[in-house]
Amino acid sequence: MTQKNIVIAGSGFAGVWAALAAARAVSQAGREGEVAITVVSPSAALHIRPRLYETAFDELAPDVSALFATVGVRHLPGRVERIHAADSTLEVSANDGTLTTLRYDRFVLATGSRLFMPDIPGLREHSFNVDQLADAQALDAHLKSLAGRSDRAARTVVVAGGGFTGIETAADMPQRLRAVFGDSADVRVLIVEQAADIGPDLGPGPRPVILEALGALGVDIRTSARVTAIDADGVTLEGGERIAAATVVWTAGARANALAAQVPGEHDRYGRLVADAELRAGEAPAIFVAGDVVQAATDDLGNVAAMSCQHALSLGRVAGHNAAAELVGLPTARYSQPKYVTCLDLGPWGAVYTEGWDRQVKLRDQEAKALKRAINTQWIYPPAADRDAALALADPYYVIVP
Ligand SMILES: Cc1cc2nc3c(=O)[nH]c(=O)nc-3n(C[C@H](O)[C@H](O)[C@H](O)COP(=O)(O)OP(=O)(O)OC[C@H]3O[C@@H](n4cnc5c(N)ncnc54)[C@H](O)[C@@H]3O)c2cc1C
Repeated sequence: MTQKNIVIAGSGFAGVWAALAAARAVSQAGREGEVAITVVSPSAALHIRPRLYETAFDELAPDVSALFATVGVRHLPGRVERIHAADSTLEVSANDGTLTTLRYDRFVLATGSRLFMPDIPGLREHSFNVDQLADAQALDAHLKSLAGRSDRAARTVVVAGGGFTGIETAADMPQRLRAVFGDSADVRVLIVEQAADIGPDLGPGPRPVILEALGALGVDIRTSARVTAIDADGVTLEGGERIAAATVVWTAGARANALAAQVPGEHDRYGRLVADAELRAGEAPAIFVAGDVVQAATDDLGNVAAMSCQHALSLGRVAGHNAAAELVGLPTARYSQPKYVTCLDLGPWGAVYTEGWDRQVKLRDQEAKALKRAINTQWIYPPAADRDAALALADPYYVIVP
């Protein structure tokens, strides 16, 4: 019998769990050896993007090669360059420079997202961000390089974008600046948000807690304000106001990885493929989509998955399971994730934890911070390289949230 091929692009949250779930389904069907599972990504590491506003860089890219090996998943270091859905092949550039064509019986696209960079003068040249590990490391190196400067601009950070990532980044920034300039340094952190309220997508529920925390941390907020240009010395706001700052951190939203555009089917305004409940990409039945590249309904009430780790973990499990289930004759799973929570880090002040799409505050201060720490250092990390335990956790119906 010819071996069937499942190829998964990406080893982020969605890709790793898709690989484990596919291995679990093959194992459950007793069909090991008949289905090869290959993950293509630049490195066999899961980058913990939700922690990139922090500085614990040695913990942010756990190696998953032993985990993959123990469940029989092959890792191919490289990038998928092109998807040919019509003939079920992928063009892959390996890290060693070779170009290969991979044929798949089922493909899982799990290549995540990228920071949205609109056409603002100076944005690419003069801003920093916390989107990818290398970006966060560049920001950190830049902040450290400012030590020794005595001007106010050096001690000023403008965070452009007051959403989830902007708030987390800004809340941590006063202590990061003081680590560079000294405990008593007069530091300035300013969030510039174009909407009328801070955390526009978070809604009114957690806003009073966010405002209280940012106030206590000394973070300034400018709402209804838009950055129109960035240069080496600071930002210009709409209307012409200048803010001198040596550091500008851009945090304004994400777009699906560009490969999503190569898959035929409907795409949403973030470039995500609109998928059915089994996470098939509309017009390409052998392709499943998971994580930040998919728009999928989480319930029957009209809510859809956010570009979030919380959703990527479940989406990955379902997509990987379904890709394998179809090949080994197991029932497919339907994606559903009705419980939605958020836990927003508010730096040394604490955190705020909400439940529901209307984001009702359930925990705050240090109690929420303890939960955030557990999420960020345990829950979202890949499991140990223990075959049975890892496969048990890869059940497509496994529920992660508290
Ligand atoms: C600063 C920050 C804070 C966040 N905070 C939270 C939070 O508190 N809670 C939460 O739920 N979410 C949070 N998120 C969002 C969360 O990190 C993402 O939703 C999540 O990482 C998506 O997982 P993913 O597997 O779809 O994509 P990713 O984690 O982006 O992984 C994509 C994978 O695809 C690989 N890849 C990319 N291109 C190719 C290619 N061409 N070929 C092969 N492989 C490729 C990448 O190397 C990577 O392995 C945060 C994100 C950021 C940046």
